[in-house]
Amino acid sequence: MLLRVLGTAAGGGLPQWNCACPGCAGARRHPSRRRLHDSLAFHGPRPDTWFLANASPDIAEQLESHPSLRPDDGNTRTPVVRVVLTDAELDHTLGLLRLREAAEIEVWCTEPVHKALNARLPLTDILSPYTALTWHDLPLAGAGTPATIAGLHVSALPLSDKRPRYAADEPSHPAWSTALKVHDPGTGTSALYAPALAAWSDLLDGAIAGSDCVLLDGTFVDEDEPRRTGISQRTASEMGHIPISGPEGSAHRLHRTGGQIHYTHLNNTNPLGDPAAPEHEQLADLGLRVAEERMVVTL
Ligand SMILES: [Zn+2]
Repeated sequence: MLLRVLGTAAGGGLPQWNCACPGCAGARRHPSRRRLHDSLAFHGPRPDTWFLANASPDIAEQLESHPSLRPDDGNTRTPVVRVVLTDAELDHTLGLLRLREAAEIEVWCTEPVHKALNARLPLTDILSPYTALTWHDLPLAGAGTPATIAGLHVSALPLSDKRPRYAADEPSHPAWSTALKVHDPGTGTSALYAPALAAWSDLLDGAIAGSDCVLLDGTFVDEDEPRRTGISQRTASEMGHIPISGPEGSAHRLHRTGGQIHYTHLNNTNPLGDPAAPEHEQLADLGLRVAEERMVVTL
């Protein structure tokens, strides 16, 4: 399988349109620091088969800027777009609205995510006059057969019951926020994508250990970043994101795992958005790194 990184920023992107924090100002001065909303494209065994992990607000630019994701000269349209969702957050789902020109959109997601995107947003009602939208159940990892999408086996690892703010009053469910497990039956390789990690679990530990490549929540560098930068009175964990460093951070849990690990979903306040930040060296010492825009991983 082949993974194409389409974006690596948390909600708002880098820079965020209404923000002049050091990270956003730096990205305006240095265009190479710009990051689109986090999303991945997975390519299956055949070159023309792919699906997207999440549909970001930048989706049209992301598809257009990758030659293998846009129509060839001879093809006037991309016939089907396949999207697998990790959750129902706006920065992971708003892109579905931008796909209304598609002949057909196939979406895989868990039960509570489907409910939020139909009862609360409501995407099916809005999109059905424009395109054929088909919803599929995304099986939970370890509970039944994974979905086969573009020749790859895909399932959702439940992470937390963190609901989007627009659906905060919906009932609790363990699969509101999930990680995607993607397995290539041809090569035997696996990837794990967890852009929003609110809690650590043994299930997650096992999935990371069994993956050749992991892309993980790197929203905040430490617990205090949201308060220090003035974007919130809450800590990183209280905002639903385990920070990278510190005693409760993810870095010290990750550095002994065998596969390659990349942090993604960086908030615009995260100092790691600056390639010269000393925090990069601390991560490198642990064998960890920040995902780069347009990075390609072959497994
Ligand atoms: Zn900013």
